Amino acid sequence: MIPTFNATNYDLTEYIPARNYIDGEWVDPTGDDTLQIINPRHGQAMSSLRESTYADIDAAVQAAKAALPGWKEWPLRERAQVMYRAREIMLRDLEELTWLVSHENGKLYAEAKPEVLKGIECVEYGCSLPNLAAGTQLEVSRGVRCEVVYEPVGVVAGVTPFNFPFMVPLWMLPQALVGGNTFILKASEQVPLSALKLVEIFAEAGLPKGVLNLVQGGRTAVEALCDHEGIDALAFVGSTRVAKLVYGRAAATGKRALCLGGAKNHLIVVPDADLDVTAENVLASFTGCAGQRCMAASVMVAVGDVDHILDEVSRRAASMVAGQNIGPITTRESMDRITGFIDQAEEMGARVLVDGRGANGQDGGFWVGPTILDNVTSEMPAAGTEIFGPVLSVIRVDTLEEALQLENANPYGNASAVYTTSGDVARKVMNRVSAGMCGVNIGVPVPREPFGFGGWNDSKFGHGNITGWDGFRFWTRPRKITSKWALQSDQNWMS
Ligand code: NAD
Repeated sequence: MIPTFNATNYDLTEYIPARNYIDGEWVDPTGDDTLQIINPRHGQAMSSLRESTYADIDAAVQAAKAALPGWKEWPLRERAQVMYRAREIMLRDLEELTWLVSHENGKLYAEAKPEVLKGIECVEYGCSLPNLAAGTQLEVSRGVRCEVVYEPVGVVAGVTPFNFPFMVPLWMLPQALVGGNTFILKASEQVPLSALKLVEIFAEAGLPKGVLNLVQGGRTAVEALCDHEGIDALAFVGSTRVAKLVYGRAAATGKRALCLGGAKNHLIVVPDADLDVTAENVLASFTGCAGQRCMAASVMVAVGDVDHILDEVSRRAASMVAGQNIGPITTRESMDRITGFIDQAEEMGARVLVDGRGANGQDGGFWVGPTILDNVTSEMPAAGTEIFGPVLSVIRVDTLEEALQLENANPYGNASAVYTTSGDVARKVMNRVSAGMCGVNIGVPVPREPFGFGGWNDSKFGHGNITGWDGFRFWTRPRKITSKWALQSDQNWMS
């Protein structure tokens, strides 16, 4: 079903439209609008999709509803075995998956492969659930036992963004499916192809039809998922504006919701930081995946005189070559938006130390090279708005206290990091930054499994993290069973 590739270059050899996958069958969405899927490297169309309507969403809900009773009867251990098989298939198809991600999102092969491997790590967490989800039981009164078992929430849905087309769906699927739910996935309409391959993999791994359904589309499809009374829980990953809307709309129909939003991550660099480690990490953090990561560095808070470090970051950034060690921006609109932020900051007085405007890795593609803006001030949108591109805004402060106040004042709270060789400075910053995922000398402090992924403040709406044990808890509800078999009415208070 999915497109095939000539893995030696960046051209698709077959053009396949993205379709819906409902009750084990590929079907066309019935919306009027058709969207072209563009390969960001050269700007040529590589696929297309039609928007799903409420009727398409309803068909997916009905399929998921019909599959639920059978699927939740499978013992958790058997549901987890689907994950074991899926993992093997993903490893078998690693090259194809890597190219698929690289083609549709634009990220380099060397960036797409870790994405796929990180997705597989999430599947491995799903494999481990039989060892973790035993629940607990205790004799709470004489002859009376209380136990907890984790039941599925029911029919659930996941909505994902364009920047990690393979990994982000796998933040949700293993825990939700092993937890016994049936699932409707709505991938980003900008990158729908990896999700096609994902549902194929799970079908090959033995998932019964109707347990995992896929719907294509954008806003209309998401609104229908939020509004549909037959969906019990919804997880969302995307921008803060939409996360907040989706959280409110999903909650309005009584759904359990967890919505992860955007970010403006601050890296605090102090003069005692290690030059080499800091330069390499700051660079990798703001340029990796062309800056299109919710964990990317966006602001470097330069405390005192750290010019030797900034010079080194700039020197390394200037030597990067578009198409070789930095990929394209996923869409033309994003590219224009990013260069707009750079133009605006320059007009408002920022100094452009490294200029990525005009980069061209391949004709027709959407390219912005690494860009460093110095002397950024708080009135500039580049200081406070998520740019989501390879742009580092440098804000200068005199003291660590000012750096912490600046970080705390930003409304987001996904990630934050400090670069220092002082344990005292590191501890102080870790105690004070207002972010859910923090790094010491690490620019992309993603908590690897089994630690849960999730930010604070405007980077998340809802409770808990999306991966790890919190993910399992989000997709399940605890049933507490209290039993008394040996009747001892004279000895206990439970009737
Ligand atoms: P987006 O919010 O534009 O889209 C995300 C999803 O929402 C897509 O599936 C899209 O179809 C849908 N959507 C878009 N507009 C909608 C609307 N008005 N109503 C309902 N649904 C709508 O995000 P994006 O551009 O795909 O992804 C980039 C954003 O995602 C960045 O802000 C990034 O920081 C964020 N992100 C956050 C995390 C995290 O874990 N916090 C992870 C990855 C990406």
